[in-house]
Amino acid sequence: MSISIGVLLVDDERDFVEMLGLRLEEEGHRVATAFSGEAALGALEESHEITDVVVLDLKMPGLDGVETLKAIKERWPLLEVILLTGHGTIDSAVAGLKSGAFDYLLKPADFGELLEKLDQARRLKWEQEERMRLAEAKLMGRRSGGLL
Ligand SMILES: [Mg+2]
Repeated sequence: MSISIGVLLVDDERDFVEMLGLRLEEEGHRVATAFSGEAALGALEESHEITDVVVLDLKMPGLDGVETLKAIKERWPLLEVILLTGHGTIDSAVAGLKSGAFDYLLKPADFGELLEKLDQARRLKWEQEERMRLAEAKLMGRRSGGLL
């Protein structure tokens, strides 16, 4: 059985977002959608705690993918971001990777490949959260140890 991943899908192509969202839900994932970078940041204000991975289109009017990615990583560094890019925007995908994106997929993305990358990204996020929990527990232990 696969693990349910909290996914935020962000793309200005609504039909694409809705169809992909349905397919991911059929796989047991929890899906939220946004149709612009601005809307994605707004959605994350509410839902970052239940989101694991953001799937982010690079080419959008308004705040573009790279700008949105930077804003996401600045506010919620543990959220993983997978970029969606066309052949014309591979340079943006490279810029995105340098700004902390987990990986990118070329559009039209292969669904199986997306599922695989979502799971890899989810795993990385959970491992980082676990390391932080352990470090915090150690810190607490040391503090209480110091009081004895
Ligand atoms: Mg687009």
